[in-house]
Amino acid sequence: MLKIENLHVSVAGKEILKGLTLDVQPGQVHAIMGPNGAGKSTLGNILAGRDGYEVTAGSVSFEGRDLLALEPEERAAAGVFLAFQYPVEIPGVNNTYFLRAALNAQRKARGEDELDSMQFLKLVRQKLAVLHLKDELLHRGVNEGFSGGEKKRNEIFQLALLEPKLAILDETDSGLDIDALKAVADGVNALRAANRAFLVITHYQRLLDYIKPDVVHVLADGRIVETGGPELALELEEHGYAWIKERIAPEA
Ligand code: ADP
Ligand code: MG
Ligand code: MG
Repeated sequence: MLKIENLHVSVAGKEILKGLTLDVQPGQVHAIMGPNGAGKSTLGNILAGRDGYEVTAGSVSFEGRDLLALEPEERAAAGVFLAFQYPVEIPGVNNTYFLRAALNAQRKARGEDELDSMQFLKLVRQKLAVLHLKDELLHRGVNEGFSGGEKKRNEIFQLALLEPKLAILDETDSGLDIDALKAVADGVNALRAANRAFLVITHYQRLLDYIKPDVVHVLADGRIVETGGPELALELEEHGYAWIKERIAPEA
């Protein structure tokens, strides 16, 4: 589904990703862990198509298409969900209106009919029930004054509405409390499906107490340096990232 090969990415002339290779199959949850500054968010940003990141070598294909050649909207239409596309606060813009616009933009790009407000509300009710969420966040401005946990619940709700094939969640390193981690974990668990894959980028071993990933990767110094099952996250918990650094230290 997602195939990243020997990816090299530079930011402001500095090489951050240095030959990253990753293969994600439908139905799988992959966790990408790693120390601060390893390049985790850079990976998320390059997959999202954010400006300022330069691919100097390697390739990324999604269902056989060259993902890097697609505009961010085209990536969304192809079924790639990037959580950080929508974390902005837009005070005064009603969240329901915003979510409907996002969904309809995606439907339009796929040549599907747009949903009217009745159809959309019906869908919203279904998704709220699946996620055991209340509708209170829908009536507020987009992310306006949302707590960390509320932002995460909203992000998961976007994910449920857009029904991506591949969801990439970057749980940035600061400001996530246990509420927010649980919101992410509950959402991922509720939305796991045979035709959907997740790439969960996290600094926190703790998140993986709630999400059972199929595959865990350690990203350090711009490369995947270790791949394993859920037990790898536990080993990291026990030994810390210093353990990985020792193992990958270049031989003198
Ligand atoms: P992580 O998410 O693993 O903590 P990042 O991908 O955010 O790591 O950052 C990796 C490295 O790239 C860091 O050294 C960071 O300072 C650098 N970096 C990231 N974004 C930028 C940028 N826009 N300009 C300059 N350096 C950047
Ligand atoms: Mg960081
Ligand atoms: Mg980061």
